Amino acid sequence: MVDFDVDLFVLGAGSGGTRAARIAAGHGAKVAVAEEFRTGGTCVVRGCVPKKIMVIASRFHDAFDDAAGYGWTLKTRPEFSWPTLVAAKDKEIARLSELYAKNLERSGVTQYASRAVLEDEHTVRLADGKAVRAKNILIATGGHPVAPHIPGAELAISSNEAFDLKELPRRILIVGGGYIALEFACLFDRLGAEVTLVHRGEKILRGFDEDLRDELMLALAAQGITLKMNNTVARIEKAADDCRKVTYVSGDDDEFDVVFFATGRAPNTSGLCLEKAGVHLRENGAVKVDAASRTNVPHIFAVGDVTDRVNLTPVAIREGHALADTVFGGKEWTADHSLVATAVFTTPEIGTLGITEQQAREDLRPIDIYKSRFRSLKHTMTRRQERTYMKLVVDAKSDKVLGVHILGEDAGEMIQLAAVAVGMGATKADFDRTVAVHPSAAEELVTMRDKIHVPNPGGAI
Ligand code: NDP
Repeated sequence: MVDFDVDLFVLGAGSGGTRAARIAAGHGAKVAVAEEFRTGGTCVVRGCVPKKIMVIASRFHDAFDDAAGYGWTLKTRPEFSWPTLVAAKDKEIARLSELYAKNLERSGVTQYASRAVLEDEHTVRLADGKAVRAKNILIATGGHPVAPHIPGAELAISSNEAFDLKELPRRILIVGGGYIALEFACLFDRLGAEVTLVHRGEKILRGFDEDLRDELMLALAAQGITLKMNNTVARIEKAADDCRKVTYVSGDDDEFDVVFFATGRAPNTSGLCLEKAGVHLRENGAVKVDAASRTNVPHIFAVGDVTDRVNLTPVAIREGHALADTVFGGKEWTADHSLVATAVFTTPEIGTLGITEQQAREDLRPIDIYKSRFRSLKHTMTRRQERTYMKLVVDAKSDKVLGVHILGEDAGEMIQLAAVAVGMGATKADFDRTVAVHPSAAEELVTMRDKIHVPNPGGAI
């Protein structure tokens, strides 16, 4: 019999790690967690939460503007202070991080404010040299932003720094066409920066429904964000006044106060000495796991971004919860990655779920498409030309709703509820049977009648 100090040692106190630690402890396991940065991980400290705070701050810009249409006169021009927002955000993040630590403490989890690496398949070594023997180990170390290897890349920032800039940049270049690039482009634009977004592809948000991609690009351009497609940064140099001179691959150049790479994230596995425990990695450095988040070493698990499956906080939380229940609670289940609703907190916002029209066509499956593009009641009274866009992708044979795609105000809120129905296998007839909430934008989801039938997928409509 080998003696262990703990039943479970968790590397990383982010969303997935803390959930697994608390649930395992609740099942009676002796648990320890090590975190080298701040409790709460990327989502709480430098991801979803501070981002959403800044998105909310940025949307006041529109609210002040829209108010005139409803009879409001602002006597003085509203002024925005970036340092005030950053300080308020920091306060809230500190409170949340502390709450995460307190919850771990209340659950009886031992916490180490330290980096932890593996020594062998049962031993974790902390920065001060202390060794902890663990019966089970969970790798929940998340990911980090990556930048292209180009001359001057070190002169740019990533999302890690974007939250704590000393001042709001006057001109910012954002590189990338994914979630982070677009969310920051919109929020910096509304907070008053001049935003240019450069993306190597023809369109933003690869993998999203084509109509949403097109509609969002139109909306961004209409707001005054400069979009440079099929192009990217070739090199960055220092310029006068601490500016950055950017030369694009197309050959032209420009100057910005800040260049921000939002060109993806990579799993945090390097330096963890996972090879000492014989843990297998995928080619991109992610920990290889099965559906139960188990690695090739039966008592070593991994959840969240470090596994590079569906890199979203709520997914990591479910993965951590499932494994703690399975290993320590006698309740075997796995996180379902097949139908995950997601929001992109641009303005206008995206809420999306299930398969896109293009995926359905590639599947060669007969489908019915329902689309709606309308000006919401709110904006009939404002100066904004903003349109809401909705699409349902329906299986023509079974009538099941396979995909819901929304662009517009509160799309993230709407898609959450649509996910309940679609997850239960709702058909278009179920949507139709649902009485509309009037007047609302969401009612359009249950009142769409005009269908485009695609009997021969792959062909043009
Ligand atoms: P994404 O993978 O979403 O997007 C990366 C973007 O950078 C893509 O447009 C990609 O282009 C481009 N890119 C990649 N490499 C290069 C390169 N070498 N040169 C130029 N462009 C490049 O990553 P993000 O960093 O935006 O976000 C990481 C993940 O975090 C997301 O995938 C998501 O899972 C999660 N996230 C979720 C949020 C939410 O739920 N609201 C918010 C923020 C992040 P291409 O398309 O051609 O590959």
